[in-house]
Amino acid sequence: MNPDRYRVKAGQNVSLQDWATDDDGGYTKEEGKALLAEYETELAQWQERLYAESKQALLVVLQARDAGGKDGTVKQVFGSFNPNGVQISNFKVPSEEEQGHDFLWRIHAKAPRRGTIGVFNRSHYEDVLVTRVHDLIDTKTAKQRLDQIRHFEAMLTENGTQIIKFYLHISPEEQQERLQARLDDETKHWKFNEGDLAERVKWPEYTKAYEDALTTSTKDAPWYVIPADRKWFRDLLISQVLLAKLKEMKPQYPATTFDPKQVKIPNIEVK
Ligand code: AMP
Ligand code: MG
Repeated sequence: MNPDRYRVKAGQNVSLQDWATDDDGGYTKEEGKALLAEYETELAQWQERLYAESKQALLVVLQARDAGGKDGTVKQVFGSFNPNGVQISNFKVPSEEEQGHDFLWRIHAKAPRRGTIGVFNRSHYEDVLVTRVHDLIDTKTAKQRLDQIRHFEAMLTENGTQIIKFYLHISPEEQQERLQARLDDETKHWKFNEGDLAERVKWPEYTKAYEDALTTSTKDAPWYVIPADRKWFRDLLISQVLLAKLKEMKPQYPATTFDPKQVKIPNIEVK
């Protein structure tokens, strides 16, 4: 499986209807899950090196429609990392304080520190998605914001933060099933939000806004369109992309400043 197939190239215009939502990469679910378990072990090892090195950071942006699988991805993919080195940030409707600032203010404050992986569950992209679909901003402002996002992400990269952005791509039928499942299972009622139905009927408007957001894909801050109808494939592909990225970042254990053979741990007697 070549994850490059799912990467939006710089300057590429994406028509989402041409991108599959139900790929399986040629794997069975069992094969996919076995491979995912291998990736998890490797990812944890690379994360430790990143933490030990403490020179670079990785920012992972997760965007999707409602029930697109952001929470599931956080749990499945990032659940295998050491929580010490991962910071998950959930971006909700901006507070009054946040609205009193530029849209990137609250985002920048959550950028990951060196040595860690930051995960944005929703992100600055909401400010060119939900706000556009609901006409809270005009076309000119949307265009300005897309440029500001490009500059912001380039600034982070130049300062040692690598960026990967995932759009979890589901079909309208899959969303319907997942929303229905939240109604049918009383332990999932808390996840059901009537507001999601109003967003669902704006499917084409979101598609357009997402297609514009995907034009911010660059070599250093690429978007991946992840076929997300199958949860196991979504997790597998995201893990594969992350693993390739961490290997490319090549974090190194820091050089020791002592000779471990010469260090003697003193014996002590505790009464
Ligand atoms: P959830 O992710 O299901 O907890 O929902 C969070 C809600 O916050 C979604 O309806 C988002 O569209 C909304 N949201 C997040 N960021 C923004 C933003 N910048 N402007 C307006 N709404 C936002
Ligand atoms: Mg929701």
